[in-house]
Amino acid sequence: MPPDTAIEVSALRKHYGPTTAVDGLTFTVAPGKVTGFVGPNGAGKSTTLRMILGLDAPDSGKALIGGRPYATLRDPLTVVGALLDAEAVHPGRRAVDHLLWMAHYNGIPRRRVTEVLEQVGLTSVAKKRAGGFSLGMRQRLGIAAALLGDPQVLILDEPVNGLDPEGIQWIRGFLKSLAAEGRTVLISSHLMGELQDTAEHLLVIGRGRLLADTDVGELLATTSGNRITLRTARLPEAMTVLAREGATVSANAPGTLTVAGLPGERVVSLLTEAGIPFSEISAHRASLEEAYLELTRGATEFTADTAALETS
Ligand code: ADP
Repeated sequence: MPPDTAIEVSALRKHYGPTTAVDGLTFTVAPGKVTGFVGPNGAGKSTTLRMILGLDAPDSGKALIGGRPYATLRDPLTVVGALLDAEAVHPGRRAVDHLLWMAHYNGIPRRRVTEVLEQVGLTSVAKKRAGGFSLGMRQRLGIAAALLGDPQVLILDEPVNGLDPEGIQWIRGFLKSLAAEGRTVLISSHLMGELQDTAEHLLVIGRGRLLADTDVGELLATTSGNRITLRTARLPEAMTVLAREGATVSANAPGTLTVAGLPGERVVSLLTEAGIPFSEISAHRASLEEAYLELTRGATEFTADTAALETS
């Protein structure tokens, strides 16, 4: 891994008064792939990203880009591009002027403005004011700004949030193509589904702590466990027979059971012996969403229960 393009976070901590926002995070983000930084709202993602970008000081620990703290980077926009808040553009400013101003202020040649507008597909609306832009267009403008210095490292906070399906498709392909060029791409999301088909590697956090640092494929393999999906029209009887033999059985969808704790052959023979017909029996494949729920269970800061307590 070329040391000039990795993000390294070690033993990073941050408190806000009594709140522990980041509680000893250690991870490395490698170049050449999209890494998803995922966790429930309030998990500490934005705080971590702000510390990586030198916008917030850690209580302890380190965050380095290419082996150096952000604050010591010369020409930081040429090293790392970031999108933290797509609303941060002045609404009265034309898209092209926003980028020209940033380029000028950071010593970046004007031609880059034309290039990044083209890259994100905003050339035709470059002279329109950002205030009239849809959220998707503002996200594109924010990404154009992040790309201005042609950085090897990109950090995007919730870039998919609020986009329409077409925007989501676009951003997925775009981020993957940036990673395929060898760049380090770190994107955060509070929804695992948003990262499906985009992130190759995942950092999962809850309550400021790292819950998983894993390849997406490995995570799915460890989550699917030994569960079996069973389709039958006679759910209650099937549940009774299987539960009596020690299986944990849950009905998740009409006509479908998820069975844990018994091998597939045993399930088949028990149902056959009891004369219960079934139309399908298969090894259960976990979705990324399920894997995430399993990992973050108990790590959600603000659950429906606590919401009810606090408003009552
Ligand atoms: P996420 O990005 O995962 O939603 P954040 O990093 O925004 O999480 O927040 C982590 C925790 O720190 C939350 O409890 C949040 O309320 C708190 N927090 C974040 N920023 C501040 C701040 N500037 N002042 C006080 N508390 C903050």
